[in-house]
Amino acid sequence: VNSESNAQLKPVFAILKERGALPNNTVAAHLLREGAPPKIVDLHTPVPEDSKLEALPATHPDALAVIRHSSAHVMADAVQRLFPGTKVAFGPATDNGFYYDYDKPGGPFTDEDLRLIEKKMAEIVSADLRFTRENVSPEQAREILQKTNETYKLEHLERLVAQGEEISLYKHGEWVDLCEGPHVPSTRYLKAFQLTMVAGAYWRGVETNPMLQRIYGTAFADKKALEDYLKQLEEAKKRDHRKLGKELELVTFHPWAPASPFFLPRGAAIYNALIEYVRKLYVRFDYIEVITPQIFDRELFVTSGHLPAYAENMFLAASKENVESVCEHLAAMHEKDGGKLEAKEVEKALLDGIRFGVKPMNCPAHALMFGSTRRSYRELPMRVADFGRLHRFERSGVTQGLTRVRTFCQDDGHIFCALDQVQSEIESFVDLVYAVYKDFEFSEVRVVIATRPDVRIGADEIWDKSERALIDGVEAKGLKYEIAPGEGAFYGPKIEFHLKDAIGRSWQLGTMQADFNMAERFDLSYVGVDNAQHRPVALHRAILGSIERFFGVLIEHVSGSFPTWLAPEQITLLTVSEKFDDHAKAVLAKLKAAGIRAVADLSGDKLGAKIRVARNMRIPYRAVVGEKEVESGGLSISSRDENKDLGMMSLDEVIAKLGVEGVPPSLRAS
Ligand SMILES: [Zn+2]
Ligand SMILES: [Zn+2]
Repeated sequence: VNSESNAQLKPVFAILKERGALPNNTVAAHLLREGAPPKIVDLHTPVPEDSKLEALPATHPDALAVIRHSSAHVMADAVQRLFPGTKVAFGPATDNGFYYDYDKPGGPFTDEDLRLIEKKMAEIVSADLRFTRENVSPEQAREILQKTNETYKLEHLERLVAQGEEISLYKHGEWVDLCEGPHVPSTRYLKAFQLTMVAGAYWRGVETNPMLQRIYGTAFADKKALEDYLKQLEEAKKRDHRKLGKELELVTFHPWAPASPFFLPRGAAIYNALIEYVRKLYVRFDYIEVITPQIFDRELFVTSGHLPAYAENMFLAASKENVESVCEHLAAMHEKDGGKLEAKEVEKALLDGIRFGVKPMNCPAHALMFGSTRRSYRELPMRVADFGRLHRFERSGVTQGLTRVRTFCQDDGHIFCALDQVQSEIESFVDLVYAVYKDFEFSEVRVVIATRPDVRIGADEIWDKSERALIDGVEAKGLKYEIAPGEGAFYGPKIEFHLKDAIGRSWQLGTMQADFNMAERFDLSYVGVDNAQHRPVALHRAILGSIERFFGVLIEHVSGSFPTWLAPEQITLLTVSEKFDDHAKAVLAKLKAAGIRAVADLSGDKLGAKIRVARNMRIPYRAVVGEKEVESGGLSISSRDENKDLGMMSLDEVIAKLGVEGVPPSLRAS
């Protein structure tokens, strides 16, 4: 550890102990440094006696990373004890656990192997072996790794040596690793781990390199935290929106439209209900909705800066005429150059000739609309909403279900306002997003304010004002927030809303960004009270974000049981036999006339089978239609959510009940 201090060196744990700052569950420490993030050090590390230190309890995220990486060492030790001749490669901690890559003779690991390895790991843990660090010379490291025939580690060592890195070894018991640490003080600190799966992985992630075996595992501070995590994983698997999207007949895909969802009738009903819902809120919050084109002349994207900055995420579009003119141009060049054409020249001709771009965002279109006529301060704030379809090219490696797609629409909006209106717009937006998140029963919202990055445009004075406005707006609403320093966009700071779903996972949904760049690029202005021209600020904001992605998150959040106001069918009528079909049809017509999304199962199936189908489709209410119901003119209702019979209800009662539940809570008349 570098330091200008002349103080004596002492192990971290000794210093913390002397200061009375070493709680029982401490696994590592933060070494606090001026003007830099804290460095994680292990408790054995000698540091100057006067260092600023902070004990890390096992539950701290940085401590978890130390526990997980230490678990990877113990796993590798266990693997090499059980499978002699196996070589190790890399073994880092990950967001949720750890892995280690192995080159194992005689084929891949099996599930039984994983259980054996876990058992051996438990033995190593209970042996309470101390983790020790030793700084060594390249020669010493080479000698040790050659002796153990760790060829991957040797290759890595040479890279470190070439980069002039400090070489350190970590040891527990007899097992040695080339590693920079940090680690827990001893193996007994590893109280809760589990190996989760095996997968192939290329050495250094390069496809032409040998394929290694990667064993994944996870580790936590204690057994309870591990069990909670494993339960969450299992629950997430059951709720996977790709699985439920298929089972509930919501979404399908086709290879001819990669990463572009087809919403089936049930999915489209929910999709439209989501948009209708946001539309109703727009009335309350004074938005005006517009419809803008899909395909623009590429000049728009040059003006907005999307070209070339965002080019690799954009779809370009060409007309046949464009193609013909490119061909003519190339033929002429070909003739002139005597048959030689450089690839670069061809590319330039193509890019110049393809005149159109498909919009990846709505902002440039809204800028054109704002600039299309002379604007006055009286029109501000102007809140423009747009559900326009967007296309972004995502590499096939990163697309996933509904959460990462190539075509989607957002509940997108841009607020053009004066700088001194930004704060009140933020307050109003906070009201809007909280109303929405409450309707979807997202209970925990985390607010993050991302501030100016190193590379940015605009004067610091404007950044000061806009960051202040964001913070003041959030504080005025009495919200707690975190600052993410340097994480803002290059054109302005932003507020992010992170939500916890029903099984505790965090998703970023809403966002609001202040933008001082757009008005400049599009030369937008309004006439102020002073009769002079002023630049408006543009606020980009979305509540649900991409409707597609939100849909995916929502499916998992509600586990396919959409609230009555969103459910594609709110009630299904189940006839006991065909004798009651006519009565069911008459009731169905009355329900529909009352605006209720009702269906009837008039198939020849037995009642039990009809109930099963309705249950599988998670329809909120089932109504049996038989002898009793025809006589009384009512319906025997069962509820999906309460999982019980609500008994006989009159048709009017059913219509009244569904009339209320069919409206999102925030829009119900109170
Ligand atoms: Zn290590
Ligand atoms: Zn925007």
